[in-house]
Amino acid sequence: MKRYLQTLVFFVVATAILPMILGTATGRGNDVSITDESEKMTENESSPSKPQTSAPEQPPRDTFRVYVVSDDVTLTLSLEELTTRVLYAEMPASFELEALKAQAVAIRSYILYAAAHPQDDERHPQADICTDYSHCVAYRSYEDAVEAYGVVTADDTYCVMVDAVAATKGEYITYNSEPINAVFHAASAGRTESCKNIWGADVPYLQSVETPESDDVYREKKAFLPSELKSLVEPLGVNTSYNPQSWFTETVRNDSGRVDSVTICGTTLSGKTVRSVLGLRSTNFSVEFVDGYFVVTTVGYGHGVGLSQEGANTLAQNGADYHTILAHYYPCGCIMSPTA
Ligand SMILES: [Zn+2]
Repeated sequence: MKRYLQTLVFFVVATAILPMILGTATGRGNDVSITDESEKMTENESSPSKPQTSAPEQPPRDTFRVYVVSDDVTLTLSLEELTTRVLYAEMPASFELEALKAQAVAIRSYILYAAAHPQDDERHPQADICTDYSHCVAYRSYEDAVEAYGVVTADDTYCVMVDAVAATKGEYITYNSEPINAVFHAASAGRTESCKNIWGADVPYLQSVETPESDDVYREKKAFLPSELKSLVEPLGVNTSYNPQSWFTETVRNDSGRVDSVTICGTTLSGKTVRSVLGLRSTNFSVEFVDGYFVVTTVGYGHGVGLSQEGANTLAQNGADYHTILAHYYPCGCIMSPTA
């Protein structure tokens, strides 16, 4: 029992620390409200291995007001500079260049979309976008990196981001001639999630697709005493019974393998709710009762919709270029490139 717990604690700590050792960026993918674009889908659109590429009729907007939450200031940044800073927060410099380039194009698209569809929660009416990754985007400036890692590491890593952004300068993805809401996440372990399963809107370019990545990178185990679990789920209306072994009775998974719902002591909760109250990395989890503990094993990290950063890196390692990666995760999209 003690050895089991020691092993479990080590595993949890190791999986938490490993991304830091590897230089994994601070972002965990983005999250936004999404409107239903399914009605815009036309019959001839499919999932090509390479996206259509064309030149935009007009260059996109180039400057954005960015509310930097940590400094409580609003900056005006160019699209390329903002893309660089978001990329720096989202992916480690150790990732493949083609994966970084794909992420850069996705970020540029996401910024253009977000600025054109401001959220109506009045969180930052003075700015187009903020640096709270749970609201708008993750963000790291060169100065932030110098403070965190020192000049040498900051120089080595920031220039990788600058190169990836410069190699895709001005490129973004469109659907029906509009920048797409190019959401992304850290890892998916097998299949990405559809937008419909997470946010309810059926978006043609945000469908569930296979993603060729290991499910070990962000695998996490968390252990809960029955009393701990009880205190977390009782506010949700779950009346726990005497015998913890019979608390979890039914788990329903959706077509991407993630948990759609869980029934605990006769009360059914959504996978998203359970992820939130237990602080899990994704809705792709399973629960066992072992040695008096509920052990929750989670694979993947993030909402699972759109580009998977780990998957993009694996595809790049296998020889895919960034346009192929983008076509894989955002089917139906068209790349707008000033050089097309
Ligand atoms: Zn925001």
